[in-house]
Amino acid sequence: MQALTIKEIAEAIGCGGSPAQGTITQISTDSRQIPKDCLFVALEGERFDGHDYIACALEKGAAYAVAHKKGNYDSQRVLYVKNTQEALLDIGGLYRSKFQIRCVGITGSVGKTTTKDMIAQVVSAEYHTLKTQGNLNNEIGLPKTLFELDNSYEAAVIEMGMSGFGEIRRLAQVAQPQIGVITNIGVSHIEMLGSRENILKAKLELAEVLPDGAPLILCGDNDLLSKVKDARLDVCFYGIENPACDIRAENMIERDGKTTFELCLQGTRIPVTLPCVGRHNVLNALAACAVGRILKISLQKCVQALQRYTPSGMRQKIVNYKSYTVVEDCYNASPDSMKAALATLGKYPCDGKRIAVLGDMLELGKLGPQAHCEIGKLVAKNGIDSLLAYGEQAGYYIQGARSAGLYDCIHYEEKEKIADHLREILQPGDVVWIKGSRGMKMEDIIHGLYEEK
Ligand code: ATP
Ligand code: MG
Repeated sequence: MQALTIKEIAEAIGCGGSPAQGTITQISTDSRQIPKDCLFVALEGERFDGHDYIACALEKGAAYAVAHKKGNYDSQRVLYVKNTQEALLDIGGLYRSKFQIRCVGITGSVGKTTTKDMIAQVVSAEYHTLKTQGNLNNEIGLPKTLFELDNSYEAAVIEMGMSGFGEIRRLAQVAQPQIGVITNIGVSHIEMLGSRENILKAKLELAEVLPDGAPLILCGDNDLLSKVKDARLDVCFYGIENPACDIRAENMIERDGKTTFELCLQGTRIPVTLPCVGRHNVLNALAACAVGRILKISLQKCVQALQRYTPSGMRQKIVNYKSYTVVEDCYNASPDSMKAALATLGKYPCDGKRIAVLGDMLELGKLGPQAHCEIGKLVAKNGIDSLLAYGEQAGYYIQGARSAGLYDCIHYEEKEKIADHLREILQPGDVVWIKGSRGMKMEDIIHGLYEEK
Protein backbone atom coordinates (compact mmCIF):
# COMPACT_ATOMS: atom_id res chain seq x y z
CA MET A 1 0.00 0.00 0.00
CA GLN A 2 1.14 3.53 -0.71
CA ALA A 3 1.04 6.24 1.90
CA LEU A 4 -2.16 8.16 2.61
CA THR A 5 -2.18 11.29 4.72
CA ILE A 6 -4.36 11.29 7.78
CA LYS A 7 -5.74 14.58 6.54
CA GLU A 8 -7.08 13.12 3.29
CA ILE A 9 -8.43 10.09 5.14
CA ALA A 10 -10.17 12.35 7.64
CA GLU A 11 -11.78 14.25 4.77
CA ALA A 12 -12.86 11.07 3.00
CA ILE A 13 -14.58 9.71 6.11
CA GLY A 14 -16.35 12.92 7.03
CA CYS A 15 -13.95 14.12 9.76
CA GLY A 16 -12.77 17.13 7.72
CA GLY A 17 -11.15 19.81 9.82
CA SER A 18 -9.58 17.26 12.17
CA PRO A 19 -6.15 18.44 13.37
CA ALA A 20 -4.82 14.88 12.90
CA GLN A 21 -1.52 14.78 11.02
CA GLY A 22 0.95 12.35 9.53
CA THR A 23 0.69 9.50 7.08
CA ILE A 24 -0.16 5.83 7.23
CA THR A 25 1.05 3.06 4.93
CA GLN A 26 -1.21 0.26 6.08
CA ILE A 27 -4.74 -0.28 7.25
CA SER A 28 -5.67 -2.94 9.74
CA THR A 29 -8.97 -4.19 11.11
CA ASP A 30 -7.31 -6.94 13.15
CA SER A 31 -5.70 -5.99 16.44
CA ARG A 32 -3.47 -9.07 16.20
CA GLN A 33 -1.81 -7.56 13.16
CA ILE A 34 -0.83 -3.99 13.85
CA PRO A 35 2.07 -2.85 11.68
CA LYS A 36 3.76 0.28 12.96
CA ASP A 37 2.08 3.52 11.86
CA CYS A 38 -0.98 1.81 10.48
CA LEU A 39 -4.55 3.03 10.71
CA PHE A 40 -6.67 0.71 12.84
CA VAL A 41 -10.33 0.67 11.81
CA ALA A 42 -12.46 -0.69 14.66
CA LEU A 43 -15.18 -2.81 13.04
CA GLU A 44 -18.10 -4.08 15.07
CA GLY A 45 -18.85 -7.69 14.15
CA GLU A 46 -21.17 -10.36 15.50
CA ARG A 47 -18.52 -11.96 17.67
CA PHE A 48 -15.92 -9.22 18.13
CA ASP A 49 -16.03 -5.50 18.58
CA GLY A 50 -12.90 -3.76 17.30
CA HIS A 51 -13.56 -0.91 19.73
CA ASP A 52 -12.46 -3.23 22.54
CA TYR A 53 -9.01 -3.39 20.91
CA ILE A 54 -8.39 0.27 20.09
CA ALA A 55 -6.26 0.92 23.18
CA CYS A 56 -4.20 -2.16 22.43
CA ALA A 57 -3.77 -1.23 18.75
CA LEU A 58 -2.63 2.31 19.62
CA GLU A 59 -0.21 0.90 22.17
CA LYS A 60 1.19 -1.56 19.65
CA GLY A 61 2.07 1.30 17.29
CA ALA A 62 -1.02 2.16 15.26
CA ALA A 63 -0.81 5.84 14.31
CA TYR A 64 -4.55 6.43 14.47
CA ALA A 65 -7.76 4.53 14.93
CA VAL A 66 -11.21 5.03 13.41
CA ALA A 67 -14.10 4.46 15.80
CA HIS A 68 -17.82 5.04 16.09
CA LYS A 69 -18.02 4.64 19.87
CA LYS A 70 -16.21 6.46 22.65
CA GLY A 71 -14.08 4.33 24.93
CA ASN A 72 -11.22 4.10 27.31
CA TYR A 73 -8.37 5.10 25.02
CA ASP A 74 -6.23 8.02 23.84
CA SER A 75 -8.96 9.82 21.93
CA GLN A 76 -6.43 12.31 20.51
CA ARG A 77 -5.47 9.62 18.05
CA VAL A 78 -8.98 8.54 17.15
CA LEU A 79 -11.08 9.74 14.22
CA TYR A 80 -14.77 9.48 15.14
CA VAL A 81 -17.24 8.56 12.42
CA LYS A 82 -20.90 7.50 12.25
CA ASN A 83 -20.04 4.01 11.14
CA THR A 84 -16.59 2.44 10.88
CA GLN A 85 -17.64 -0.06 8.20
CA GLU A 86 -18.71 2.82 5.96
CA ALA A 87 -15.46 4.60 6.78
CA LEU A 88 -13.44 1.56 5.66
CA LEU A 89 -15.30 1.62 2.35
CA ASP A 90 -14.74 5.38 1.99
CA ILE A 91 -11.01 4.90 2.53
CA GLY A 92 -11.04 2.06 -0.01
CA GLY A 93 -12.67 4.41 -2.53
CA LEU A 94 -10.20 7.19 -1.77
CA TYR A 95 -7.26 4.82 -2.25
CA ARG A 96 -8.68 3.27 -5.42
CA SER A 97 -9.16 6.68 -7.03
CA LYS A 98 -5.40 7.28 -6.87
CA PHE A 99 -4.73 4.63 -9.52
CA GLN A 100 -5.36 4.85 -13.25
CA ILE A 101 -6.02 1.15 -13.77
CA ARG A 102 -8.32 -0.92 -15.91
CA CYS A 103 -10.81 -2.32 -13.44
CA VAL A 104 -13.29 -5.16 -13.98
CA GLY A 105 -16.15 -5.65 -11.50
CA ILE A 106 -17.87 -9.04 -11.33
CA THR A 107 -21.11 -10.03 -9.68
CA GLY A 108 -23.78 -12.72 -10.17
CA SER A 109 -25.62 -15.37 -8.14
CA VAL A 110 -23.03 -18.07 -8.84
CA GLY A 111 -19.75 -18.31 -10.68
CA LYS A 112 -18.28 -15.02 -9.47
CA THR A 113 -15.04 -16.42 -8.06
CA THR A 114 -14.50 -18.83 -10.96
CA THR A 115 -15.15 -16.11 -13.51
CA LYS A 116 -13.00 -13.64 -11.60
CA ASP A 117 -10.11 -16.11 -11.61
CA MET A 118 -10.52 -16.82 -15.33
CA ILE A 119 -10.74 -13.11 -16.16
CA ALA A 120 -7.65 -12.41 -14.05
CA GLN A 121 -5.83 -15.22 -15.84
CA VAL A 122 -6.63 -13.62 -19.20
CA VAL A 123 -5.98 -10.02 -18.17
CA SER A 124 -2.64 -11.03 -16.58
CA ALA A 125 -1.49 -12.19 -20.00
CA GLU A 126 -1.06 -8.52 -20.91
CA TYR A 127 -1.22 -6.44 -17.73
CA HIS A 128 0.09 -6.68 -14.19
CA THR A 129 -3.17 -7.55 -12.50
CA LEU A 130 -4.49 -7.47 -8.95
CA LYS A 131 -7.41 -9.78 -8.22
CA THR A 132 -9.66 -10.44 -5.27
CA GLN A 133 -8.00 -13.19 -3.28
CA GLY A 134 -10.23 -16.21 -2.76
CA ASN A 135 -13.71 -15.02 -1.97
CA LEU A 136 -13.01 -11.68 -0.26
CA ASN A 137 -15.95 -10.09 -2.02
CA ASN A 138 -17.80 -8.20 0.72
CA GLU A 139 -17.64 -4.80 2.37
CA ILE A 140 -14.50 -5.78 4.27
CA GLY A 141 -12.73 -7.96 1.70
CA LEU A 142 -13.23 -5.55 -1.18
CA PRO A 143 -11.54 -2.50 0.38
CA LYS A 144 -8.80 -4.79 1.72
CA THR A 145 -8.20 -6.02 -1.81
CA LEU A 146 -7.97 -2.45 -3.08
CA PHE A 147 -5.42 -1.55 -0.40
CA GLU A 148 -3.08 -4.01 -2.15
CA LEU A 149 -2.88 -1.70 -5.18
CA ASP A 150 0.36 0.09 -5.95
CA ASN A 151 1.79 1.82 -9.00
CA SER A 152 3.04 -1.44 -10.48
CA TYR A 153 -0.52 -2.61 -11.18
CA GLU A 154 -2.14 -1.97 -14.54
CA ALA A 155 -5.43 -3.77 -13.95
CA ALA A 156 -7.67 -5.10 -11.20
CA VAL A 157 -10.32 -7.82 -11.28
CA ILE A 158 -12.70 -7.42 -8.38
CA GLU A 159 -15.44 -9.78 -7.16
CA MET A 160 -18.55 -8.28 -5.56
CA GLY A 161 -20.98 -10.26 -3.43
CA MET A 162 -24.26 -9.18 -1.87
CA SER A 163 -27.22 -10.30 0.12
CA GLY A 164 -29.54 -7.32 -0.34
CA PHE A 165 -30.25 -4.08 -2.20
CA GLY A 166 -27.68 -1.30 -2.16
CA GLU A 167 -24.66 -3.49 -1.47
CA ILE A 168 -23.42 -3.90 -5.05
CA ARG A 169 -23.89 -0.18 -5.71
CA ARG A 170 -21.79 0.66 -2.68
CA LEU A 171 -19.04 -1.86 -3.53
CA ALA A 172 -18.95 -0.70 -7.13
CA GLN A 173 -18.70 2.95 -6.10
CA VAL A 174 -15.64 1.98 -4.08
CA ALA A 175 -13.99 -0.25 -6.72
CA GLN A 176 -14.87 2.08 -9.63
CA PRO A 177 -14.83 -0.53 -12.40
CA GLN A 178 -15.00 0.53 -16.05
CA ILE A 179 -16.08 -2.95 -17.17
CA GLY A 180 -18.94 -4.87 -15.53
CA VAL A 181 -19.65 -8.61 -15.69
CA ILE A 182 -22.79 -10.37 -14.40
CA THR A 183 -22.49 -14.15 -14.50
CA ASN A 184 -25.92 -15.30 -13.59
CA ILE A 185 -29.22 -14.50 -11.88
CA GLY A 186 -30.24 -17.47 -9.80
CA VAL A 187 -31.99 -17.93 -6.51
CA SER A 188 -29.28 -17.26 -3.88
CA HIS A 189 -30.55 -14.68 -1.36
CA ILE A 190 -34.09 -14.89 -2.72
CA GLU A 191 -35.39 -14.97 0.86
CA MET A 192 -33.94 -11.53 1.41
CA LEU A 193 -34.95 -10.01 -1.93
CA GLY A 194 -38.29 -11.72 -2.55
CA SER A 195 -37.98 -12.57 -6.24
CA ARG A 196 -35.47 -13.29 -9.00
CA GLU A 197 -36.48 -10.00 -10.63
CA ASN A 198 -35.34 -8.23 -7.47
CA ILE A 199 -32.07 -10.19 -7.52
CA LEU A 200 -31.58 -8.94 -11.08
CA LYS A 201 -32.25 -5.36 -9.95
CA ALA A 202 -29.75 -5.68 -7.13
CA LYS A 203 -27.05 -7.08 -9.44
CA LEU A 204 -27.73 -4.37 -12.01
CA GLU A 205 -26.65 -1.76 -9.47
CA LEU A 206 -23.22 -2.55 -10.91
CA ALA A 207 -24.40 -1.19 -14.27
CA GLU A 208 -25.57 2.09 -12.69
CA VAL A 209 -22.08 2.81 -11.45
CA LEU A 210 -20.28 2.13 -14.75
CA PRO A 211 -19.24 5.21 -16.74
CA ASP A 212 -21.18 6.16 -19.90
CA GLY A 213 -20.48 3.85 -22.82
CA ALA A 214 -18.74 1.26 -20.60
CA PRO A 215 -18.99 -2.43 -21.50
CA LEU A 216 -21.48 -4.48 -19.51
CA ILE A 217 -20.88 -8.17 -20.15
CA LEU A 218 -23.84 -10.45 -19.42
CA CYS A 219 -24.55 -14.16 -19.67
CA GLY A 220 -27.02 -14.33 -22.56
CA ASP A 221 -28.05 -17.89 -21.62
CA ASN A 222 -29.64 -16.60 -18.44
CA ASP A 223 -33.37 -15.96 -18.90
CA LEU A 224 -33.34 -12.65 -17.03
CA LEU A 225 -29.95 -11.28 -18.08
CA SER A 226 -30.66 -11.95 -21.76
CA LYS A 227 -33.48 -9.38 -21.63
CA VAL A 228 -31.39 -6.58 -20.17
CA LYS A 229 -31.17 -3.42 -22.26
CA ASP A 230 -29.16 -0.36 -21.35
CA ALA A 231 -28.88 2.46 -23.88
CA ARG A 232 -26.20 4.18 -21.79
CA LEU A 233 -23.81 1.21 -21.82
CA ASP A 234 -22.26 -1.09 -24.38
CA VAL A 235 -24.04 -4.35 -23.51
CA CYS A 236 -22.37 -7.55 -24.73
CA PHE A 237 -23.76 -11.07 -24.31
CA TYR A 238 -21.93 -14.39 -24.10
CA GLY A 239 -23.56 -17.81 -24.19
CA ILE A 240 -23.81 -21.34 -25.52
CA GLU A 241 -27.54 -21.81 -26.10
CA ASN A 242 -28.61 -18.35 -27.17
CA PRO A 243 -27.64 -17.78 -30.82
CA ALA A 244 -28.07 -14.02 -30.44
CA CYS A 245 -24.99 -13.79 -28.17
CA ASP A 246 -22.01 -11.76 -29.36
CA ILE A 247 -19.52 -14.33 -28.14
CA ARG A 248 -20.43 -18.00 -28.24
CA ALA A 249 -19.13 -21.52 -27.71
CA GLU A 250 -19.95 -24.38 -30.05
CA ASN A 251 -19.04 -28.05 -30.37
CA MET A 252 -18.25 -28.62 -26.71
CA ILE A 253 -16.61 -31.94 -25.86
CA GLU A 254 -15.64 -33.07 -22.36
CA ARG A 255 -12.90 -35.63 -21.92
CA ASP A 256 -10.40 -36.53 -19.19
CA GLY A 257 -11.34 -33.63 -16.98
CA LYS A 258 -10.95 -31.14 -19.84
CA THR A 259 -13.42 -29.38 -22.09
CA THR A 260 -12.74 -28.42 -25.68
CA PHE A 261 -14.95 -26.08 -27.66
CA GLU A 262 -14.90 -23.57 -30.49
CA LEU A 263 -15.08 -19.96 -29.51
CA CYS A 264 -17.07 -17.95 -32.05
CA LEU A 265 -16.77 -14.20 -32.23
CA GLN A 266 -17.43 -11.84 -35.14
CA GLY A 267 -17.08 -14.56 -37.73
CA THR A 268 -13.87 -16.06 -36.25
CA ARG A 269 -13.72 -19.51 -34.72
CA ILE A 270 -10.91 -20.54 -32.49
CA PRO A 271 -10.40 -23.85 -30.65
CA VAL A 272 -10.14 -23.73 -26.86
CA THR A 273 -9.16 -26.37 -24.32
CA LEU A 274 -10.26 -25.60 -20.80
CA PRO A 275 -8.66 -27.59 -17.96
CA CYS A 276 -12.03 -28.14 -16.23
CA VAL A 277 -15.47 -29.56 -16.97
CA GLY A 278 -19.03 -28.27 -17.24
CA ARG A 279 -20.99 -25.89 -19.44
CA HIS A 280 -20.94 -23.36 -16.62
CA ASN A 281 -17.15 -23.19 -16.84
CA VAL A 282 -17.34 -22.71 -20.60
CA LEU A 283 -19.66 -19.76 -19.92
CA ASN A 284 -17.21 -18.37 -17.39
CA ALA A 285 -14.40 -18.73 -19.94
CA LEU A 286 -16.47 -16.85 -22.54
CA ALA A 287 -16.90 -13.99 -20.07
CA ALA A 288 -13.12 -13.94 -19.60
CA CYS A 289 -12.53 -13.78 -23.36
CA ALA A 290 -15.10 -10.98 -23.70
CA VAL A 291 -13.15 -8.95 -21.12
CA GLY A 292 -9.86 -9.84 -22.82
CA ARG A 293 -11.10 -8.57 -26.17
CA ILE A 294 -12.34 -5.32 -24.64
CA LEU A 295 -8.88 -4.83 -23.16
CA LYS A 296 -7.40 -5.44 -26.61
CA ILE A 297 -5.78 -8.76 -25.72
CA SER A 298 -5.62 -11.00 -28.79
CA LEU A 299 -7.98 -13.98 -28.79
CA GLN A 300 -4.97 -16.29 -29.15
CA LYS A 301 -3.49 -14.87 -25.96
CA CYS A 302 -6.84 -15.11 -24.13
CA VAL A 303 -7.20 -18.75 -25.11
CA GLN A 304 -3.64 -19.63 -24.14
CA ALA A 305 -4.13 -17.97 -20.77
CA LEU A 306 -7.33 -19.95 -20.12
CA GLN A 307 -5.49 -23.19 -20.75
CA ARG A 308 -3.40 -22.36 -17.68
CA TYR A 309 -6.42 -21.73 -15.44
CA THR A 310 -6.57 -23.75 -12.22
CA PRO A 311 -9.71 -23.78 -10.09
CA SER A 312 -9.32 -22.12 -6.69
CA GLY A 313 -9.86 -24.02 -3.44
CA MET A 314 -12.29 -26.95 -3.51
CA ARG A 315 -14.13 -25.75 -6.63
CA GLN A 316 -14.52 -28.77 -8.87
CA LYS A 317 -10.97 -30.00 -8.58
CA ILE A 318 -10.75 -33.26 -10.49
CA VAL A 319 -8.60 -35.87 -8.81
CA ASN A 320 -7.77 -39.24 -10.29
CA TYR A 321 -7.46 -41.33 -7.18
CA LYS A 322 -6.59 -44.99 -7.52
CA SER A 323 -8.60 -46.03 -10.55
CA TYR A 324 -11.58 -43.73 -10.03
CA THR A 325 -12.24 -40.02 -10.34
CA VAL A 326 -13.18 -37.73 -7.46
CA VAL A 327 -14.59 -34.28 -8.17
CA GLU A 328 -13.85 -32.19 -5.09
CA ASP A 329 -16.56 -29.54 -5.17
CA CYS A 330 -17.00 -28.84 -1.47
CA TYR A 331 -16.49 -25.09 -1.44
CA ASN A 332 -20.16 -24.30 -1.59
CA ALA A 333 -23.56 -25.23 -2.98
CA SER A 334 -26.71 -23.43 -4.01
CA PRO A 335 -29.56 -24.68 -6.22
CA ASP A 336 -27.93 -23.01 -9.25
CA SER A 337 -24.48 -24.48 -8.76
CA MET A 338 -26.00 -27.89 -7.88
CA LYS A 339 -27.89 -27.88 -11.17
CA ALA A 340 -24.70 -27.06 -13.07
CA ALA A 341 -22.76 -29.77 -11.21
CA LEU A 342 -25.39 -32.49 -11.76
CA ALA A 343 -25.71 -31.68 -15.46
CA THR A 344 -21.94 -32.03 -15.74
CA LEU A 345 -21.81 -35.28 -13.75
CA GLY A 346 -24.66 -36.74 -15.80
CA LYS A 347 -22.62 -36.31 -18.98
CA TYR A 348 -19.24 -37.05 -17.45
CA PRO A 349 -17.52 -39.54 -19.77
CA CYS A 350 -16.69 -42.62 -17.71
CA ASP A 351 -16.61 -46.42 -17.88
CA GLY A 352 -18.15 -46.94 -14.47
CA LYS A 353 -20.90 -45.48 -12.32
CA ARG A 354 -21.66 -41.84 -11.65
CA ILE A 355 -22.21 -41.20 -7.96
CA ALA A 356 -23.39 -37.94 -6.38
CA VAL A 357 -22.53 -37.31 -2.73
CA LEU A 358 -24.56 -34.29 -1.72
CA GLY A 359 -24.65 -32.32 1.51
CA ASP A 360 -27.35 -29.82 2.43
CA MET A 361 -27.68 -26.48 0.65
CA LEU A 362 -27.86 -24.06 3.56
CA GLU A 363 -29.47 -20.63 3.91
CA LEU A 364 -32.51 -21.37 1.79
CA GLY A 365 -35.00 -20.61 4.57
CA LYS A 366 -38.49 -21.91 3.95
CA LEU A 367 -37.59 -22.80 0.36
CA GLY A 368 -35.21 -25.50 1.65
CA PRO A 369 -37.43 -28.62 1.45
CA GLN A 370 -38.67 -27.90 -2.06
CA ALA A 371 -35.23 -26.88 -3.35
CA HIS A 372 -33.65 -30.09 -2.01
CA CYS A 373 -36.47 -32.16 -3.48
CA GLU A 374 -35.99 -30.52 -6.91
CA ILE A 375 -32.26 -31.23 -6.82
CA GLY A 376 -32.98 -34.85 -5.87
CA LYS A 377 -35.21 -35.12 -8.94
CA LEU A 378 -32.40 -33.72 -11.08
CA VAL A 379 -29.99 -36.37 -9.78
CA ALA A 380 -32.36 -38.96 -11.26
CA LYS A 381 -33.15 -37.00 -14.43
CA ASN A 382 -29.47 -36.53 -15.24
CA GLY A 383 -29.08 -40.31 -15.23
CA ILE A 384 -26.77 -40.41 -12.19
CA ASP A 385 -26.48 -43.97 -10.83
CA SER A 386 -26.52 -43.38 -7.10
CA LEU A 387 -27.04 -40.69 -4.52
CA LEU A 388 -25.49 -40.56 -1.07
CA ALA A 389 -26.93 -37.67 0.92
CA TYR A 390 -25.88 -36.05 4.16
CA GLY A 391 -27.54 -33.42 6.34
CA GLU A 392 -30.79 -32.38 7.98
CA GLN A 393 -32.50 -31.54 4.70
CA ALA A 394 -30.89 -34.33 2.72
CA GLY A 395 -33.97 -36.51 3.20
CA TYR A 396 -35.66 -34.23 0.67
CA TYR A 397 -32.93 -35.03 -1.87
CA ILE A 398 -33.77 -38.70 -1.42
CA GLN A 399 -37.52 -38.06 -1.65
CA GLY A 400 -37.03 -36.13 -4.91
CA ALA A 401 -34.69 -38.73 -6.41
CA ARG A 402 -37.09 -41.59 -5.59
CA SER A 403 -40.06 -39.70 -7.00
CA ALA A 404 -38.14 -39.44 -10.29
CA GLY A 405 -37.22 -43.12 -10.35
CA LEU A 406 -33.79 -43.38 -8.71
CA TYR A 407 -33.83 -45.94 -5.93
CA ASP A 408 -30.12 -46.34 -5.32
CA CYS A 409 -30.04 -43.58 -2.73
CA ILE A 410 -29.07 -43.52 0.92
CA HIS A 411 -29.42 -40.83 3.59
CA TYR A 412 -26.51 -40.78 6.06
CA GLU A 413 -26.38 -39.26 9.50
CA GLU A 414 -22.58 -39.37 9.70
CA LYS A 415 -19.98 -38.33 7.20
CA GLU A 416 -17.49 -41.07 8.16
CA LYS A 417 -20.01 -43.70 7.11
CA ILE A 418 -20.17 -42.16 3.64
CA ALA A 419 -16.39 -42.34 3.27
CA ASP A 420 -16.42 -45.98 4.47
CA HIS A 421 -19.26 -46.86 2.10
CA LEU A 422 -17.51 -45.20 -0.85
CA ARG A 423 -14.32 -47.13 -0.12
CA GLU A 424 -16.32 -50.33 -0.26
CA ILE A 425 -18.29 -49.69 -3.41
CA LEU A 426 -16.03 -47.66 -5.70
CA GLN A 427 -14.92 -49.55 -8.78
CA PRO A 428 -12.41 -48.68 -11.50
CA GLY A 429 -13.85 -46.08 -13.86
CA ASP A 430 -16.40 -44.66 -11.38
CA VAL A 431 -16.81 -40.92 -10.90
CA VAL A 432 -17.84 -39.55 -7.53
CA TRP A 433 -18.87 -35.88 -7.23
CA ILE A 434 -18.84 -34.46 -3.69
CA LYS A 435 -20.66 -31.19 -3.08
CA GLY A 436 -22.45 -29.30 -0.32
CA SER A 437 -22.67 -25.90 1.32
CA ARG A 438 -19.59 -24.56 3.08
CA GLY A 439 -21.08 -25.25 6.50
CA MET A 440 -21.49 -28.95 5.66
CA LYS A 441 -17.69 -29.39 5.35
CA MET A 442 -18.04 -32.15 2.77
CA GLU A 443 -14.25 -32.21 2.43
CA ASP A 444 -14.24 -34.42 5.56
CA ILE A 445 -15.65 -37.17 3.35
CA ILE A 446 -12.84 -36.69 0.85
CA HIS A 447 -10.21 -36.87 3.57
CA GLY A 448 -11.88 -39.99 4.94
CA LEU A 449 -11.98 -41.52 1.49
CA TYR A 450 -8.26 -40.94 0.88
CA GLU A 451 -7.27 -42.28 4.31
CA GLU A 452 -5.51 -45.62 4.08
CA LYS A 453 -7.31 -48.17 6.28
P1 ATP B 1 -19.93 -17.14 -3.57
O1 ATP B 1 -21.33 -16.58 -3.49
O2 ATP B 1 -19.61 -18.16 -2.54
O3 ATP B 1 -18.88 -16.06 -3.69
P2 ATP B 1 -19.43 -17.52 -6.37
O4 ATP B 1 -20.52 -16.78 -7.07
O5 ATP B 1 -18.12 -16.86 -6.25
O6 ATP B 1 -19.92 -18.00 -4.96
P3 ATP B 1 -17.98 -19.81 -7.36
O7 ATP B 1 -17.25 -19.91 -6.08
O8 ATP B 1 -17.25 -19.42 -8.58
O9 ATP B 1 -19.28 -18.89 -7.19
O10 ATP B 1 -18.69 -21.19 -7.66
C1 ATP B 1 -19.59 -21.76 -6.71
C2 ATP B 1 -20.12 -23.04 -7.28
O11 ATP B 1 -20.85 -22.76 -8.48
C3 ATP B 1 -19.03 -24.02 -7.69
O12 ATP B 1 -19.49 -25.30 -7.42
C4 ATP B 1 -18.90 -23.83 -9.17
O13 ATP B 1 -18.49 -24.95 -9.85
C5 ATP B 1 -20.34 -23.48 -9.61
N1 ATP B 1 -20.31 -22.55 -10.76
C6 ATP B 1 -19.27 -21.84 -11.22
N2 ATP B 1 -19.63 -21.08 -12.27
C7 ATP B 1 -20.95 -21.28 -12.47
C8 ATP B 1 -21.91 -20.78 -13.40
N3 ATP B 1 -21.58 -19.91 -14.34
N4 ATP B 1 -23.19 -21.26 -13.30
C9 ATP B 1 -23.54 -22.15 -12.36
N5 ATP B 1 -22.67 -22.67 -11.46
C10 ATP B 1 -21.39 -22.24 -11.48
MG1 MG C 1 -17.14 -16.14 -4.65
